[in-house]
Amino acid sequence: MRRGSKKARRRFSLRTWLALSFMLFSFIAAAVLFLELIFFAPLYYTFKIRETRHMTETLMDTYGSEDYADRIRTQAFSNQVCVTVTDARGRVLYSEDVMGGNCLLHGWRNYLYPLLSELEASESGNITLSVFDEQLGMETLVVGSVIGDAAEPDGYILCNTIIEPIGTTVSLLKRVTLGIALVLLVVGLVIAMILSDRLSRPIIRITQSAGRMAQGDYTTVFQGGGYREADELARTLSYAEHEIARVDTMQRDLIANVSHDLRTPLTMLKAYAEMIRDLSGDNPVKRAAHLQVIIEETDRLTMLVTDILDLSKLENGSQKLETQEVGVRAWLTDIIGRYKGISEQMGYHISFTPDEERMITCDPGKLERVVCNLINNAINYTGEDKCVYVSQINTEDGVRIEVRDTGAGIEEDKLGKIFDKYYRSENHRRETVGTGLGLSIVKAILKLHGFRYGVRSKLGEGSVFWFEAR
Ligand code: ADP
Repeated sequence: MRRGSKKARRRFSLRTWLALSFMLFSFIAAAVLFLELIFFAPLYYTFKIRETRHMTETLMDTYGSEDYADRIRTQAFSNQVCVTVTDARGRVLYSEDVMGGNCLLHGWRNYLYPLLSELEASESGNITLSVFDEQLGMETLVVGSVIGDAAEPDGYILCNTIIEPIGTTVSLLKRVTLGIALVLLVVGLVIAMILSDRLSRPIIRITQSAGRMAQGDYTTVFQGGGYREADELARTLSYAEHEIARVDTMQRDLIANVSHDLRTPLTMLKAYAEMIRDLSGDNPVKRAAHLQVIIEETDRLTMLVTDILDLSKLENGSQKLETQEVGVRAWLTDIIGRYKGISEQMGYHISFTPDEERMITCDPGKLERVVCNLINNAINYTGEDKCVYVSQINTEDGVRIEVRDTGAGIEEDKLGKIFDKYYRSENHRRETVGTGLGLSIVKAILKLHGFRYGVRSKLGEGSVFWFEAR
């Protein structure tokens, strides 16, 4: 536990994580921009060569067409390239100058013939030259091709264009990029701060509330806010708080109830033992009566302690089911038969409405306890007529067993709590059989079997407790 918390303390906070992430993002963005700038010049150069070569090839392919002069003009102006086309002997057939005599092919510095010689001499029939034009003070590109067969050429085409000096532009862009990267970094950090604040504020609030809840304050309000996940967390914790508070109250009630129920018989035991010692010891009739009370109270104590132990065993899973096939009709008839003798002496009437015999798989010992607990409760809480009705109703996939009484019934808001381990109604009667754990044991056994169960009740008319065995 301690180790865990130490570890957690060493971890980065949400704010640091976000700030680091944004810094990383800004760094990557800047790096990408820089990389692009590094490759910008070579890419531009390659692009320029490819464009000019493509243009040359287009003009080669259309050589001899009727509108060839127009084609040359269009291409030269749209690409800003000077073009000269000669016949096989080097006589100029077409010429387009887009640089006002400032290129290598036109004007007084006529490099046309040296370039033609170079093209003639080339093995591939193509030349691509990067020439520094001293007069212009710029790098220029010369692309030439032989038209037709290299051995017997139809003519020659030469193109010349300026390679824009982009060095200054690139270095300027580098500075701008650096600026952008810095701005990105600052903006990123500010966003990270705002975002982390928005994200962490509800978490911090919820953590503080959880701390208060852990100290036993179940009135703590969990406040989400900001975003859906925080709201959901707050809602879930509120629900958990509600449940913990409920269990806590029930646990307190149980301890209060159990200690009350333990103290009452213990007080009785002591009182009657003292009475026998001081008063009735020599009077056999009184002594026998007092001893009878002691025996009954001991039984009650034993029952209570047994119920508590049984329930805890059922709930912690240490009690396994010993299942077998059981015929419901015969089994219920037997249980109710055994009941009848005792309860009818006390004026109770237990009637059984059977259905056709049906086999179910269950632990008969434990399921008998369920039926007995339900019948005991029905006897305890039934009305003036002292009637209890047990029914077997065969359903499509099993058997429904119902125990009905004609008592005061249970209020609607209590129905949900009735099977709770620690729940006891205010009108619980000590003088009747039961420890206050009966229905909790019923629930535990039925859950272990996987049987559905429930209760319906109408105030003034009585209650029906049921379960469905398969
Ligand atoms: P106990 O009967 O010993 O109090 P149970 O767990 O069997 O304990 O029952 C829990 C509560 O459910 C009882 O205190 C009682 O208020 C209510 N209850 C159970 N069965 C009935 C019934 N048939 N009619 C009315 N109330 C009932």
